[in-house]
Amino acid sequence: MIAVPFAYEAPTTVEEAIRLLSEFGDRGRVLAGGHSLIPIMKLRLAQPEVLIDIGRVGELRYVRAEDRHLAIGALTTHTQVASDPTIGDQCAVLAETAGHIGDAQVRNRGTIGGALAHADPAADYPATILALDAEIVAQGPRGRRTIAAPGFFTGLFTTALAPDELLVEVRVPVLGPGSGGAYAKRPNPASHYAVVGVAAVVRLEGGRVTSVSIGVTGAGAQPSRAAAAERALLGQVPTDDTIARAAALAAEGIDLLSDIHGSAEYRADMVRVYTRRAIREAIRRAGG
Ligand code: FAD
Repeated sequence: MIAVPFAYEAPTTVEEAIRLLSEFGDRGRVLAGGHSLIPIMKLRLAQPEVLIDIGRVGELRYVRAEDRHLAIGALTTHTQVASDPTIGDQCAVLAETAGHIGDAQVRNRGTIGGALAHADPAADYPATILALDAEIVAQGPRGRRTIAAPGFFTGLFTTALAPDELLVEVRVPVLGPGSGGAYAKRPNPASHYAVVGVAAVVRLEGGRVTSVSIGVTGAGAQPSRAAAAERALLGQVPTDDTIARAAALAAEGIDLLSDIHGSAEYRADMVRVYTRRAIREAIRRAGG
């Protein structure tokens, strides 16, 4: 199928893009890498009257180290996230996650802002964004605001972004010494989307886990934190046994999806398996 006809706008600044979003309202749609939007337009699941292509908004492409976090512009591609030396050095779990996305073509075109704004339940970044307690910066006609990761994902393909807001930046913490993160994924063999993906970020002090956050994607309609598993691991000496006991609780509280890619029961099993793998690797990277 081909998309219904649409008008095309190509702003070159954030300000201009927001003005166009305000002008066209529900009739307009932002185009970034196009790797989610174009397929759904071809299926006619989305029929915007105007595409607002932000690909020429150069000010949205950057990776900056600022104080204790990294600021990543919305148009930074998955390939750039995966290969950026600053991200690799200071928040390696995000680079690792980007490297898991799709194939080389998808990673070369798809952007971190587009992936988060699209909020596909099987997307990879959301698990890591939750585990990192990252922040998402939105800009609209009323100015800029910062949305904490847990409040950003609000449901299946829905986020806290207002229709006239642009996702402009993602802010992730620098993981210092004693901290480690890992992303482990059960990919769909055809698309590579996550049937289940788990990100774990831990901090070790005196041989104990003093901080742990675990994000899960693919399992439910929206990504979530594995709170029961986090509580079980916090304060523990990380052994095979304490890790396995925590991971066994990882699917608790998730409203599990059941579809052609896997039953709810299968997903629950995969959440437990991949949580164990992600925690073990995060602990190893934290020096444990
Ligand atoms: P677009 O497709 O341009 O836009 C997606 C949506 O976000 C649209 O609604 C658009 O209006 C909105 N949007 C885009 N940018 C902004 C912004 N800055 N502010 C506000 N709204 C915005 N993803 C994974 O996570 N894991 C995978 O394994 C995976 N495999 C894939 C395999 C294939 C074959 C394909 C085609 C895609 C796959 N993807 C996967 C999706 C891919 O990561 C997309 O790049 C991503 O979901 C969307 O990013 P984009 O830049 O292409 O956004």
